[in-house]
Amino acid sequence: MNPSILNIPKIIVSILVLFFAYHFFSLGTTLLKENKKILLITEKKQPIIDKLNNEDIEQKDEIDQVFNEKNAEQTSILEQQKIDISPKIITKINEVIVKKNQTFDSILKNEKITNSMRINIITEISKLYNLKKLPIGQKIIFNYREKDQNTKLVKITLPLSFKEELVLENNLDNKFIAKKIDLPIFSEKKIFKVNIEKSLYQSAVKFKVPNSVIIDLIRLYSFDVDFQRDIRVNDNFVVMYEVFYNEQRREVAFGNILYSNLILQKRELEYFLFETSEGIDYFDRKGKNVRKALMKTPIDGARLSSGFGMRKHPILGYNVKHRGVDFAAPTGTPVFAAGNGKIEFIGTNGAYGKYIRIKHNNSYKTAYAHLSGYKKGISKSVRVNQGEIIGYVGSTGRSTGPHLHYEVIFNGKKINPMKMKLPSGKSLKNEELNKFLEYSEEIFSFVIKNI
Ligand SMILES: [Zn+2]
Repeated sequence: MNPSILNIPKIIVSILVLFFAYHFFSLGTTLLKENKKILLITEKKQPIIDKLNNEDIEQKDEIDQVFNEKNAEQTSILEQQKIDISPKIITKINEVIVKKNQTFDSILKNEKITNSMRINIITEISKLYNLKKLPIGQKIIFNYREKDQNTKLVKITLPLSFKEELVLENNLDNKFIAKKIDLPIFSEKKIFKVNIEKSLYQSAVKFKVPNSVIIDLIRLYSFDVDFQRDIRVNDNFVVMYEVFYNEQRREVAFGNILYSNLILQKRELEYFLFETSEGIDYFDRKGKNVRKALMKTPIDGARLSSGFGMRKHPILGYNVKHRGVDFAAPTGTPVFAAGNGKIEFIGTNGAYGKYIRIKHNNSYKTAYAHLSGYKKGISKSVRVNQGEIIGYVGSTGRSTGPHLHYEVIFNGKKINPMKMKLPSGKSLKNEELNKFLEYSEEIFSFVIKNI
């Protein structure tokens, strides 16, 4: 026999060993690179959970793509190993999605289990989970093991969040025990430098910046930048954000933007995410808070279609003062709260159609008209945060087509949002400022090294 053929298994083993060694080495160096302060920030904010309860979660396709790129080889090797270890035991998985009016008990009745086992499962799970609050759309995974033609339910899993699941496992006495498990989450920082060719949004999409990050970026800069007028070809931006991987479920979540720099022809807008005694916020290089009291453009990627001031009214036909600004956008485009505040009015309001008004403080209110609908959960007296979705663009009331009519009301008087000069937030001082300066320097050098 040719001796080189005998060596093939050895070579395969060596390749596997090298592969795993490399994998753990790179994992180790990634973890070493992690800056402790950044981890502190993300832990406090719990971006994983925020993101997962949020509509901004990336499309399944995009998630699959990230994973396929990251772990394609590794997965195939692991799958091969699984088959090698247990060739005679077949595992069957039944995934159930809770539908309207379905109870956990009714779902269990469809599974291949005895009545006493069903009672055991319900008793166990109730120790850790309120089954009355089982939400529609909740996934329940049943694992069966088939051995010598015997089918046995061995495990029930309820994913609770991006990183947590409730697991019931069948122990040796054929009794189920429930426990909550934190799944291992790996994070890494991604940095993109994007040259703007047409619009910021289109260029970011072209560079494959995840959608939720682009939306966060636009929200972040909407206080300072008029995306229609201020952005020119060959402007560019740098953005660094966190990505969280749940390898077990093959899921990805995107965290906060940690650093961004929008480089325009005449100015640079560089923002650092930093934790202060009042929470996390964005600051410029000098430690000045970059959040303004109100957003000039409380909508994404919209075109300013009608400014503030005298104009011939498109429906009434005569000259009236336009006491707000109009943004043309397709029906259903999300509308954001321009600042933190409380919903003062929500409902149909004459020519305004479906209308929301937010009271921000004693001086400022903002109003949003011609909406097609309101965001679920938004009602009178509810507190909203800047950038939070409150409703959707429509054409209700006296309107010629889908657009947002946006008003800023200062001391009872409607003012031009595009011209408002609002004081920026507080600047960091003393010890906090020193910490920030040290931190921002570290972040900046990390970006420069990894760009
Ligand atoms: Zn208008």
